[in-house]
Amino acid sequence: MTRVGRGAPPSAYNDLVKSLTSDLNADLHCHSVVSDGTLTPEALAERARANGVELWALTDHDEVGGQHRARAAAGALGLPYLTGVEISVTFAGTTVHIVGLGFDPDQPQLLQGLSATRGGREARAREMAEGLATVGIHGAYEGALKYVGNPELISRTHFARHLVDSGVCSDTQEVFRRFLIDGRPGFVPHRWAKLGDAVRWIVEAGGTAVIAHPGRYKFTPNEEYALFTEFIAHGGRGVEVITGSHTAADFVKYADMAVEFGLLASRGSDFHSPAESHIDLGKLPPLPARLTPVWSALSERVLQPS
Ligand code: AMP
Ligand code: MN
Ligand code: MN
Ligand code: MN
Repeated sequence: MTRVGRGAPPSAYNDLVKSLTSDLNADLHCHSVVSDGTLTPEALAERARANGVELWALTDHDEVGGQHRARAAAGALGLPYLTGVEISVTFAGTTVHIVGLGFDPDQPQLLQGLSATRGGREARAREMAEGLATVGIHGAYEGALKYVGNPELISRTHFARHLVDSGVCSDTQEVFRRFLIDGRPGFVPHRWAKLGDAVRWIVEAGGTAVIAHPGRYKFTPNEEYALFTEFIAHGGRGVEVITGSHTAADFVKYADMAVEFGLLASRGSDFHSPAESHIDLGKLPPLPARLTPVWSALSERVLQPS
């Protein structure tokens, strides 16, 4: 197949991107210090390039503050780039993540929606710390803050890092299992954005909305059907099939669902940190050839290396 990369002249660039097929090493989901990752956008761009990524998107939680840096770093490395974000949504009482790709990162309505979505995080974090204090873990809010790169984006991941480094647990998985998931003392139910709003913000900013890691939500079949149909009704077009959060069985299940619902398929590691993430940038299985890759619909939105 034709590969796009360093040295492709800009005039031919979009034509080449249009021919990109499902075996492209695209990684369209990861996090930087702008949300709950541990690497800067620049370090992620270098890591993506070194790992053979051919099309990259940084998708920080509820925040596009890293997009210009990521784009510039990718451009300097000759790495094709799509703008990205991962929006927290509450659907059927569960937190669902919606990835946006290829949008205008300066669109005011999107920025306002993301700002509102971030708004409740600080109060939630203080409540999480109160819950942890009831089981004898004191000062968790201040502890978590030390790991936060963006004060508006304090997340459970920062609490998890603090509880590992302070010796309460041996790894972040254990922190989530014992303290941070529903029913545990550090869990605080939270109302995020509405599904329709998140999809609309992305679409009206010129982007494509994608259901992130559907295998993680533990929905009943009826709830999952409702998620997919409502997402599509709101203008959503894609679903992550190959992600670091899916098992091999999930790959097959969501490949089938992408076909059944006529959705574009995406691929992303959900990389957060060299120390924590079990799948590195670009180190995922390829998208099954029977699927239509989301990047085939985003050719006009790929940012050309400068
Ligand atoms: P928040 O947006 O504050 O609810 O934090 C959600 C983030 O926590 C996710 O994006 C993941 O990075 C992380 N996370 C969720 N569940 C787990 C888990 N079981 N183990 C490790 N990290 C997790
Ligand atoms: Mn995260
Ligand atoms: Mn997610
Ligand atoms: Mn993610």
